[in-house]
Amino acid sequence: MLNTTCPNSPKCPIFNGILADKVTTAKAYRTKYCEAGPQGYKTCKRFLAKEKFGECPPNLLPNAGLSLDEIGARYNLA
Ligand code: SF4
Repeated sequence: MLNTTCPNSPKCPIFNGILADKVTTAKAYRTKYCEAGPQGYKTCKRFLAKEKFGECPPNLLPNAGLSLDEIGARYNLA
């Protein structure tokens, strides 16, 4: 069976309930990004930041409006 869940999900705070007070939002993120196969999670800014910088700011949202360069500058990533 194909694994359609984001490979970063085991350690991802979004996937694991950082938005516990916003259950509906977290579920929407999981449906749209984390559990939507590569075409989903490869559009997640968290996934892309980790891919580009090797880490992701804890509070970055999957649909952050910043570009990757802006994310790198704002959070002092390489
Ligand atoms: S798709 Fe994004 S939010 Fe979901 S587990 Fe992967 S990195 Fe985290």
